[in-house]
Amino acid sequence: MIPSAFDYVRPSTVEEALQALAGGEDVKLLAGGQSFIPVMRLRLAAPETVVDIGRVPELRGVREDGDAIVIGAMTTHDEVLKDPLVGQHARLIVQTTETIADRQVRHRGTFGGALAHADPAGDLPAVALALDAEMVIAGSGGRRTVPAKEFFLDYLTTAVGEDEILVEVRIPKLSGDWGSHYEKFNRVAQAWSIVGVAAAVRRENGTIAEARIGLTNMSSVPVRAAGVESALTGGPASAEAVAAAAAHAGEGTNPTSDLNAKADYRQHLAEVLTKRAVLTAAGLN
Ligand SMILES: Cc1cc2nc3c(=O)[nH]c(=O)nc-3n(C[C@H](O)[C@H](O)[C@H](O)COP(=O)(O)OP(=O)(O)OC[C@H]3O[C@@H](n4cnc5c(N)ncnc54)[C@H](O)[C@@H]3O)c2cc1C
Repeated sequence: MIPSAFDYVRPSTVEEALQALAGGEDVKLLAGGQSFIPVMRLRLAAPETVVDIGRVPELRGVREDGDAIVIGAMTTHDEVLKDPLVGQHARLIVQTTETIADRQVRHRGTFGGALAHADPAGDLPAVALALDAEMVIAGSGGRRTVPAKEFFLDYLTTAVGEDEILVEVRIPKLSGDWGSHYEKFNRVAQAWSIVGVAAAVRRENGTIAEARIGLTNMSSVPVRAAGVESALTGGPASAEAVAAAAAHAGEGTNPTSDLNAKADYRQHLAEVLTKRAVLTAAGLN
């Protein structure tokens, strides 16, 4: 289908983009367009004005800032995959982004767009949560930083206001003894997750010293598997201990039943995929 008619604005700075957002009633941001354009074509959204932030240079690229790396919201999935800083300090993001869609989508879709869209089946929100990312949001009153655990509010809803822009994401570095893995279950290649598990663990003297586990599509928002994390932490780095800890994966989750899977099957998947993700992240298989 063809979208409804709309005005089109293409700012070259964040300031101009914010002015455009403030300038009308129904103004929406366009990033890579991989989710938003289909929504407009289906006329589920019919904005009066579309603000295309695809040519705002300050929103693009990856830089180092002390103990974090900072990923610009408009950095494409493909650029993230090729970036040496992400590969060195946030390998989990690379492992996850490799599973997103196909090359065409990864060339257009953006890191920030995927987080701002906040689809429960999207893979990067659980990773942002597991890595304790911080989202930097710009508005007319300046910039504010929101931790990932306060960013995802509900289905397709985040802390970014109507007149605000997600400008960059700070990811604390996880290098050294950390291992990570993203385990994704889908029925056909390149599809969205039915369930996904993002795992990062740090081994020390035969134990798991720290564990971060994020779950995709186990609620309307990404979820930290806190029960698994506490069962793993300080315990032996063994297959038996990981299997026992993974049994806690469904705690605190509220998955939906849909055409792809019933809720109880998703609970089962969460346990199986958590076990696989942690075993691989810890180098135990
Ligand atoms: C065929 C196909 C398969 C896909 N498979 C997967 C998959 O397996 N896993 C997965 O995780 N994703 C998948 N995606 C989605 C992909 O990851 C997109 O990158 C993502 O959905 C949206 O990113 P975008 O840059 O295209 O944003 P857009 O579609 O342009 O925008 C999405 C929404 O976010 C808002 N937005 C965008 N950027 C900002 C910002 N900086 N600040 C505030 N609001 C903003 C927009 O206003 C819009 O409402 C798939 C997409 C397609 C088309």
